[in-house]
Amino acid sequence: MHLAEILNWRSVPAAGISMGLTRRCPLHCAHCSTQSSMTSEQHPELLFKRFVASFSHESRPAILAMSGGEALLRPALVSALAKSARRCGTTSSVLSGLFFARTHDGTKIPAPIRVAIDAVDHFSASLDAFHEAEVPWPNVRRVLRTLLDDGKDLSIHLVGRDADDPYLTTRIAAVRRHFGTHIPMLVNQVASFGRARAWTPMVMTKRPARVEAQPCTMAAWPVMGFDGRIVACGNDDAMDRMPGHLVLGHASTHTWAQIRERTLESSMMRAIRLYGPDYLAARAEMHPSGCAAGCRTCMAMSGDALVEERVRASIAISMQKQSTRVLEAAAGELIRQGGALAFARRNGVARYAELALLGAT
Ligand code: SF4
Repeated sequence: MHLAEILNWRSVPAAGISMGLTRRCPLHCAHCSTQSSMTSEQHPELLFKRFVASFSHESRPAILAMSGGEALLRPALVSALAKSARRCGTTSSVLSGLFFARTHDGTKIPAPIRVAIDAVDHFSASLDAFHEAEVPWPNVRRVLRTLLDDGKDLSIHLVGRDADDPYLTTRIAAVRRHFGTHIPMLVNQVASFGRARAWTPMVMTKRPARVEAQPCTMAAWPVMGFDGRIVACGNDDAMDRMPGHLVLGHASTHTWAQIRERTLESSMMRAIRLYGPDYLAARAEMHPSGCAAGCRTCMAMSGDALVEERVRASIAISMQKQSTRVLEAAAGELIRQGGALAFARRNGVARYAELALLGAT
């Protein structure tokens, strides 16, 4: 499965689920969004297995995207979930920082890890200057070469300090030199989450006099955290702060069908996908964060009962109208047509978006 196929689905509500299998990670990257360490929490395998076992032929995500922490610290779990998901037609991917290549030459991938990589349909490597301080690029390159030669579908999730970081141009050139068009790349920049919050400023935009609707396309795939909590989007603060309107359920008590239903039918989630949080807050004549701040506004909505109540009241009738359903369908279709490229432009470094399509047929 090519990266483009995953990204084509990425903005389609309930087309996939992201799952953090552990918060643990042996690396110490200065930008880690989950503030992971080897003593971070890790919950029993059963939690994840039970939830994936609730997928059925009638109700399943198209893609199960596994990550961590470092998901490959639990290779047997990755293999078991990939196998369980495939039984009803769900494809899978795993994202890794390649911790296992810190000291060896990359041609000998530990057997259980190799089994896990073979079990998924797509393997992604995280790559940035912080990872490279722990796992040298030549080792990463050799792991990728080994897997590529064995026919694995691969991608690199490349992160720079900002869009102009010279590291990005250097590393992209190196990847192209070594792998041609065989490894697509999703290029992003460090965001102010986790350990990076201490040294990356949050970008604030002054609220304009007139706030336009701006659909949130990230509120599409539910995200299951290390402890089984499930929220409506991949904003790392959502998992830490659990704002009520973004909470969908828990893997120990809910099935995929229930989470899917909540994702698709919650009035609040539909409204956030259609209009975006700033527009909703402005329409309710509330602006909790005082600026046009997208996710910050969204997070603040549940922090103030009055704000949440007024936003809910302002959408209660409009989200039930048939005309709103028609508008949602049209907006959803436009977003779907934009596909992988539009997703990479919107959510990554726009000038490198086309790298996500390298090698796509
Ligand atoms: S706007 Fe809200 S739902 Fe969308 S990504 Fe940000 S926090 Fe999540």
